[in-house]
Amino acid sequence: MRKGEILRLVDLEGQQAIDFLCFSADDLADRYNAANTIKLNRNIYLGKGSELWSVRARKMMTIIEDTCGSHDTLYGCCSVEVDDIRFGKNNGRGCQGNFEFELAKHGLSEKDVVANVNFFMYVPVEASGDLAIAPGISKPTDYVDLRAEMDLLAVLSNCPEALNNAAGFKPTPIRAIVYSL
Ligand SMILES: [Zn+2]
Repeated sequence: MRKGEILRLVDLEGQQAIDFLCFSADDLADRYNAANTIKLNRNIYLGKGSELWSVRARKMMTIIEDTCGSHDTLYGCCSVEVDDIRFGKNNGRGCQGNFEFELAKHGLSEKDVVANVNFFMYVPVEASGDLAIAPGISKPTDYVDLRAEMDLLAVLSNCPEALNNAAGFKPTPIRAIVYSL
């Protein structure tokens, strides 16, 4: 994406997690950083007005529209290995594998799959610190608009997890559109 372009992610049928990462085009090592994003937004959830921040504390993207209201920064992505532990089975390569497959096209690898954004995934945190994936709150055709604040590489995985609430136990299609105003 070029600076100023907008990425619209549409949850066509609702309750569908979209795992997301982005990397600065001028320095792929300077990428989305969950901790900096949480610190600088002073919130663990993302919504309209939230910003995605990099390792070097550069603003990468701004959420300029959001019809859902809550997106996760904590839970990371599904993988064969973690699913084997928590469910005793898995869905194939999962979001970890999807990220690795796409990032390999840009010279990146598994070490570049860091804690990612989960759009349309609802992970309420209790006062005790307990957290878990709750049923998604996104409705059919909910969308989020992300404006690129720099030239960047954006990568996503439409979560194929059928074993928990990340995709409502039933993964469904999404739409991704890049446009300019
Ligand atoms: Zn996943």
